Amino acid sequence: MEVRVHTVDVVIVGSGGAGLRAAVEIKPPYTCAVLSKVHPLRSHTGAAQGGVSAALGNEEEDSWEWHAYDTVKGSDFLGDQDAIELMCQDAIRAIIELEHMGMPFSRRSDGRIAQRRFGGHTRPENPADPHSKRIPVRRACHSADRTGHAMLHTLYENALKNGVRFFSEFFVTDVIVHNGSCRGVVALDIRSGDLHVFHAKAVLFATGGYGRVYQVTSNAHAGTGDGMAIVYRRGIPLEDMEFVQFHPTGLWKLGVLISEAARGEGGILRNKHGEPFMERYAPTVKDLAPRDLVSRAIITEIREGRGIEARDGTVYVGLDLTHLPESVLREKLPEITGFAQMYLGVNPRREWIPIQPTVHYAMGGIPTDVDGRVVIDEHNTPIRGMWAAGEVACVSVHGANRLGTNSLLDLIVFGRRAGKSIVEYLGSGATWEELPADVIEFSRTRIERLRSGHGHERLALVRKELQKGMMEYVGVFRTGHDMQQMVSLLADLRERYARIRLQDTGSTFNTELVEALELENLLDVAEAITYSALNRTETRGAHAREDYPNRDDENWLKHTLIVRDSGAAPRIFYKPVRITRYRPVERVY
Ligand SMILES: Cc1cc2nc3c(=O)[nH]c(=O)nc-3n(C[C@H](O)[C@H](O)[C@H](O)COP(=O)(O)OP(=O)(O)OC[C@H]3O[C@@H](n4cnc5c(N)ncnc54)[C@H](O)[C@@H]3O)c2cc1C
Repeated sequence: MEVRVHTVDVVIVGSGGAGLRAAVEIKPPYTCAVLSKVHPLRSHTGAAQGGVSAALGNEEEDSWEWHAYDTVKGSDFLGDQDAIELMCQDAIRAIIELEHMGMPFSRRSDGRIAQRRFGGHTRPENPADPHSKRIPVRRACHSADRTGHAMLHTLYENALKNGVRFFSEFFVTDVIVHNGSCRGVVALDIRSGDLHVFHAKAVLFATGGYGRVYQVTSNAHAGTGDGMAIVYRRGIPLEDMEFVQFHPTGLWKLGVLISEAARGEGGILRNKHGEPFMERYAPTVKDLAPRDLVSRAIITEIREGRGIEARDGTVYVGLDLTHLPESVLREKLPEITGFAQMYLGVNPRREWIPIQPTVHYAMGGIPTDVDGRVVIDEHNTPIRGMWAAGEVACVSVHGANRLGTNSLLDLIVFGRRAGKSIVEYLGSGATWEELPADVIEFSRTRIERLRSGHGHERLALVRKELQKGMMEYVGVFRTGHDMQQMVSLLADLRERYARIRLQDTGSTFNTELVEALELENLLDVAEAITYSALNRTETRGAHAREDYPNRDDENWLKHTLIVRDSGAAPRIFYKPVRITRYRPVERVY
């Protein structure tokens, strides 16, 4: 196995919206390598559909402070309010900046950027009276229902313009952290099977989410939580991992996403009696309630016998778009209209789309400050030379539940801030700190062990059992008993992982080897999710415990940090939530 060493100022792992937005900031004379395990334009950001939020007020009166309040409330008061205020205030500038970079937004007839409704985004019914009832507001800027595609292409072009160097199909296996500073990463060149060392002054992780830990997910196959697992294995904590977002409307059994934009444009959820059931769960905003609430409502309808039974015995609910004008389906929702037709043979003009909740987004991740610097303890002490941004990071602006359209916003606001912070760091005289001697040993041993494995376990089976287990035991509703089952299952799956035998033992384009490395990441992420969830004995946002059905601010208004140190089980500790002006109140919609 050959080893090549590249020396660059900055290495960015991941070329989704967050990685690329940061890369746009790194200009010559600084050198920047962007590593991605898939082609940059296949990053999951390109699949984002519905929109990106900013209180532009193009459609109706809006303010960043209303946006901030919605985000805090959506987060079930777990989001850090200083970071949320910063994000919502900066959103307006960030959208105009994207427009200037060339992003093709959908337009109103007067030429301004069009905006639509999305779950949890509201304004006071009477704008003069901030305490009046909150009703849905049009805040989501979009490019039809292909917003992420437009954003990713725009950012890619702008990064290329700066001379950023891309390394496609490079799979990062390890981060080099030595004596308290981060000095680079180790990556497998999937094409050749060689290991490469990227020796850098600054490293940014922008590796996205972990939806593939679960069986039913809207995430791309690459969503295996690699960045989180890589740093976790190196003793860096992960934050708020128990908060896993289920998006209410995945295509039944497949999990493919039907954007919330469908409800933003007027779609209605119905049970087997045709009842628009969200009216019972969220009387004011109905189908435009936040995702945690809508997902629980759907599961409750199904559990109480009001779901629609398919021929194979599985149960779903309907998303009714039949009353929407043809022009809306054609111009505003072309992609998802096609998905329903293509994957399920359902024509949304005439039939309800069969849907079920699907794992969608990681609220937790690598803890950072508002400049993307990775912080490692309850005092938010940064680690030198290391940043994270995007879905892999936890700033935390989404707290216990993210609002739709706030992720794309998070990428462009905090991706940019991380990029700027890195440039500042480079300007302050940062240097390449020496590489430790055994820098590739860890990666090399793992790869060699997998390629020479003599066991009899099949990788696909172990993965499937993990995904099914997480679905069943750490799903929309949770109990201590179920999660204990998952802890045992994880121990069993880890043993089996050690006995995996690959069918392909070659070095070039060994995608099975990559999948095996990803499976180890999935196991590590599942561990962090399960232990964090088991410890939090309350219900908050997306973490709904049937054995602890209430929110408990007295004991649990705090962020979880989970770290792997010498003990048999991971160690869990907590840090306070930063509250500026919004005191926690009961969350009703
Ligand atoms: C179907 C769908 C629709 C969505 N719609 C919306 C929406 O309308 N609005 C909204 O705000 N949010 C939406 N989201 C969420 C949002 O799109 C994501 O949270 C966001 O795009 C994540 O961006 P990112 O830059 O963090 O990572 P990603 O775009 O996921 O990119 C991750 C990058 O990391 C690289 N990578 C990962 N692991 C490795 C490794 N080991 N080695 C090398 N490279 C690696 C990948 O190759 C990739 O380039 C949607 C998500 C999905 C799945």
